[in-house]
Amino acid sequence: MTPLKQRIITRIQAEGPMSVAAYMAACLFDPTHGFYPTRDPLGAEGDFITAPEISQMFGEMIGLWCVQSWMDMGQPQTINLIELGPGRGVMMNDILRAARIAPKFIKAARVTLIEASAALQAVQGQTLANSPCPVTWADGLEKSPRGAALIIGNEFLDCLPIRQFVRKNGAWHERLINIDPDDETGLIFGLSELPYAHDDVAHFPQSEDGALCELCPALAQITDHVKLRVGESAVRALFIDYGPAQTQIGDTLQAIKRHTKVDPLSEPGEADLTARVDFGHLFELAAAAKLHVAHAVTQAHFLTAMGIEMRALNLSKAKPEAAPKIARQLARLTDSDQMGTLFKAIAFQNYGLPPIVGLEP
Ligand code: SAH
Repeated sequence: MTPLKQRIITRIQAEGPMSVAAYMAACLFDPTHGFYPTRDPLGAEGDFITAPEISQMFGEMIGLWCVQSWMDMGQPQTINLIELGPGRGVMMNDILRAARIAPKFIKAARVTLIEASAALQAVQGQTLANSPCPVTWADGLEKSPRGAALIIGNEFLDCLPIRQFVRKNGAWHERLINIDPDDETGLIFGLSELPYAHDDVAHFPQSEDGALCELCPALAQITDHVKLRVGESAVRALFIDYGPAQTQIGDTLQAIKRHTKVDPLSEPGEADLTARVDFGHLFELAAAAKLHVAHAVTQAHFLTAMGIEMRALNLSKAKPEAAPKIARQLARLTDSDQMGTLFKAIAFQNYGLPPIVGLEP
């Protein structure tokens, strides 16, 4: 049994069954045994790989998006470049390299990284040691510097804790995690006795008994924060992640350890836990916060609109021996049977700014 599993069992004995969100938060961020605080999980040697780790072209396209967005804001003298969940800092490094085409942007940029894992903060510091602009860390969006901002996150939203609800006798009941009555070292899923009677699940689709739907409460915190900032200055936010364009029915909680799916309840703290991002709900939340929001587009659409094919061509011309590898990376990022379609990009901003580059015509 992992040390964290023992702690979770003790906690359930003391406090009763645990929500899926509380379980996810413990597994991912428990300071001594959680998945992120205790390791660098990224890359071929680690547990999973992400788009910026696949190819430099990904971060470079986000870099061009940042420069164009800053221009759309009228080139403010200071632009906060705020990244949520920066992993190893690879994407920010690629963003800043691509942004060198606009020296005035580099001069204006102040990077703020929001990272829950001390281990990854240290790696980010190393990756960005030669950054052309200042880099600092903040504990959460609400602590990040005010003023004009570009807020970005890749594969950040998918690790925000989700709550799950199951339809029973025509009402939603929260899915809870309990100790297995037949095995005191095991964890099992159960349901709350009382139905859940709050409006934050009003957007769930019409469902039959037995259906499961998911809610990520932190999405509303993000749109609320952006709503607060747009009253003061220009803000554009971009999130890329995997998930459907509309709220869907189904259990999407998944655990990945060393690039393999495992049972989410079997080894808490040893596997990455994620869930699909509900882009439909995020759109509704941003619209309800009175932000201008672009409908989610596929990652392939976004990267192609930003010019990734031309970038691949130029990189291949500069280094012909790398051309087959670059072609494979491009396919991984944009083909529909790879990351191209399942992954989506969504963006929102103040009303009155020009259309959002890469997402809107
Ligand atoms: N964006 C990177 C890393 C993705 S992994 C990439 O694409 O490669 C998820 C990242 O989000 C990790 O850095 C993780 O530590 C961080 N993270 C997850 N939840 C967080 C939270 N609530 N606050 C801050 N960082 C978080």
